[in-house]
Amino acid sequence: MSLPAPTANEIEAAIRNIPDFPKPGIQFKDITPVLADARLFNGAIAELCKPFKPGSVDAVVGIDARGFIFAAAAAVQLKAGFVPIRKKGKLPYTTHEQDYALEYGVSTVAVHTDALKAGERVILIDDLLATGGTAAAAAALVRKLGAEILEFSFLIELRFLNGREKLQGFPVRSVVTY
Ligand code: AMP
Repeated sequence: MSLPAPTANEIEAAIRNIPDFPKPGIQFKDITPVLADARLFNGAIAELCKPFKPGSVDAVVGIDARGFIFAAAAAVQLKAGFVPIRKKGKLPYTTHEQDYALEYGVSTVAVHTDALKAGERVILIDDLLATGGTAAAAAALVRKLGAEILEFSFLIELRFLNGREKLQGFPVRSVVTY
């Protein structure tokens, strides 16, 4: 059974805005209502992998933590592997690490050293593109492993934060923009 495809407006209408979470001044985009609705979730995954046919991508790389939900579902749809990029200290095997700047301080993401082979074709998926720091750090890790990034795909893009500027040279798509 295939579900009728939702419009981007329908997906946007389901995203819940939570003011001042997790701290004052941040408006958190809560995607759990999209996940809970079978038609919206299926439609969101279809949009995230739209340019790619099953078998045309070696792996979908997902970014900790909500990115895993979308990236893993996209990997199944594309008959590709799934590779997690996690916050530092979570992956059990040997890792490469990459620091990136936060508004205050730095954070670090990591990937297993054998997660991708040189030349593998991958797409990166996260729930939301804000300043682009997380995605740019993820890209650095993927390139360190020698894989080829075909595209970045986000459910949500906060355009006013200019995250795309940190991802120059890569195609960037988003389903819903603010
Ligand atoms: P950035 O590195 O600034 O592009 O931040 C992107 C990461 O932080 C993503 O993994 C998002 O899940 C999370 N994030 C940033 N801003 C928000 C927001 N307003 N609502 C929900 N998640 C956010």
